[in-house]
Amino acid sequence: MVETALRSEVAVAVLRLLMAYQRQLPSGDTCRELPCAACDEPHLRKITAAMATGREIQLVLPAFPAKSPNRAKTISHLPDMAERVALEFLQSLCDRIERLYPPGARFVICSDGRVFGDLIGVPDEAVTAYRRELVAMIDQIGAERLDVFDLDDVHLGVDDHAAMREHLVTHYAQSLESVRAEVKAGDKALSIYRGMTRFLFEDQLGPGYEGSRAAALREARRRAYGVIQRSRAWGSLLAERFPDAVRLSIHPQPCGADKLGILLMETADGWLTPWHGVAVVTDGRTELVKRSDAERLGATLVRRGGRPSHYVLSRLTG
Ligand SMILES: [Zn+2]
Repeated sequence: MVETALRSEVAVAVLRLLMAYQRQLPSGDTCRELPCAACDEPHLRKITAAMATGREIQLVLPAFPAKSPNRAKTISHLPDMAERVALEFLQSLCDRIERLYPPGARFVICSDGRVFGDLIGVPDEAVTAYRRELVAMIDQIGAERLDVFDLDDVHLGVDDHAAMREHLVTHYAQSLESVRAEVKAGDKALSIYRGMTRFLFEDQLGPGYEGSRAAALREARRRAYGVIQRSRAWGSLLAERFPDAVRLSIHPQPCGADKLGILLMETADGWLTPWHGVAVVTDGRTELVKRSDAERLGATLVRRGGRPSHYVLSRLTG
């Protein structure tokens, strides 16, 4: 009875708005019907709880870790037009939620570069610079409903990044052995592991890499366990820190998951994230592609504020 009362039309409307950008699994654990009650339930509960006290709805999104170090995919180690488009999109979701529910919603972008930078080949200085520029970009575009939170915020005043990671693993992580056992058992952990290995492998093979492909693959397989371990630890820390927040993810989620997989761009149609690619503007439409693909298509690099920003391509002029 209480639950029925909590399922207000407004809460459902807010959820539908977010679900319009749901990132779903291509097959397997998909929903029987849409809208899907099992998928709605965990998020609707959080949204209605926030509304019951007139609070801003908190949306926790682990994302925007750092730019991929593979310069065949990205143009620099700093946020560029690709991030800007995604940030504008997230702010626009908040603008639309505010129209439905005036206290609105707020994204807490939980930048996880510090959590596994050492495993993905991104130095801590690059993680720091990426976050600094991301915050500056949010400020510049006036995205007042976007916050950034990372491991540095858990350890204010501390400079030792390795110690922060060690603390995270000690207090929040499962053992590497148990991650390996899960992967070995197959199923969902195995597919996550394979996806992670592919990303790590590709990211190593940028221009300037001098090792063999076999060595890169071995290294990627080794590191993938650590990335999974720390990502999950980061998720546990976030759950503790933001218990009332709707938990979002950039990865597709199975039906009924406590996380909601969402897209980061209105026009997103692939798997690429802003930090694994570049923005290409073609006759007004912005898409994310790998840098090497933009260049192969003959797109022209555009600089903004003295830095490489994005590519433009005209279908009319070729
Ligand atoms: Zn479902």
